[in-house]
Parts: sequence; structure tokens; C-alpha cells
Amino acid sequence: MKSGEMVIYDFDQTIPSSHIFEATGGAAEVEGFEDVFFEDAFGGEDRILQLWAHFNRLNQRGVELLILSNGWSAVIKESLDRVGLSEFFANENIFGNDSELMAQNCGVKQHAILELMRDRNLQFEQVLFVDDDWMNIVQCKECRTLHVESEAGISEKELKAIEAAF
Ligand SMILES: [Mg+2]
Repeated sequence: MKSGEMVIYDFDQTIPSSHIFEATGGAAEVEGFEDVFFEDAFGGEDRILQLWAHFNRLNQRGVELLILSNGWSAVIKESLDRVGLSEFFANENIFGNDSELMAQNCGVKQHAILELMRDRNLQFEQVLFVDDDWMNIVQCKECRTLHVESEAGISEKELKAIEAAF
């Protein structure tokens, strides 16, 4: 079920409540980290459950979920896997700095978003971009945006606002 709509999330300090790339010293591989590291990075069990319910609601409405990050793709995948959130993001919808999409767009999110939208033939109102980095938000003119206010990731209120957008 696809509704022709999508949410593009930043990763660090948007989905996790901490900056995993910085916390791991920019490690490209995090399999050696304990589960508790990831649980803490996502703000603990309650926040992980909130995220799960959020992604599940959008998924059930047929909204496609993507991640666009300047971190490593494998780290994002491993992190989501460890906290039970990987089912909502297809491998081909996770774009780290080492993805072809980000490489071809020189890591500039607004350009990568435009390419994603063109590929899917989506219009402004069909796409929502969510990021804690204000510069990424102000530069993005191609779709709707939501700025994550806290450095501790998307809040419960912001999760509801995203859901209300579809
Ligand atoms: Mg971020």
C-alpha cells in the first residue's frame, strides 16, 4: 500500500535522541557496541515505543519512510536494528553519506531530496522533511519541512505533528 507520500527523516538527534556519529567517534561500524548503548542513544524504552508506534501509524497509512543522513548507512541500519525499528525502513530507503544518492549530491540534502522527489514524481505537499539542523531545513524549498527543536531528537509533540500532516 503506497499513498504517494513520504517522510524523509534526518538520523542523528532526530530519530535517536543523541548524536550516534559523534558518540562513536565517527565509527563506520558499530556492531561491537552493547544493546544498552543504542537503547540510551534513542532515549530509552518509552521513547523507542513512541517511535515504533509513530512509524507504524505512518506505515499503515502507506506513507513511505526514508532516512537521509550525513552519518554512515551501516551505522544507521545497525542502530535501528538494535532497538527494533528497522522494519519500517527498507534498506534502499536509508541514505547515509556513503550512499550513491548523497555522494552524487555532494552530501547536500536539499539536492538529494529533489532527486528523490523527481524519481517518484512527487509534489511539494506529498513530502515532509524532518531535521534538527536548521540550515538543512531553511535550504529545503522542495517540500514541506519540520524542524526538530530539541537536541534530544523528535519530541512526542513533533511526532504527532508529523502524523497530522498525512
Ligand atoms: Mg541531525
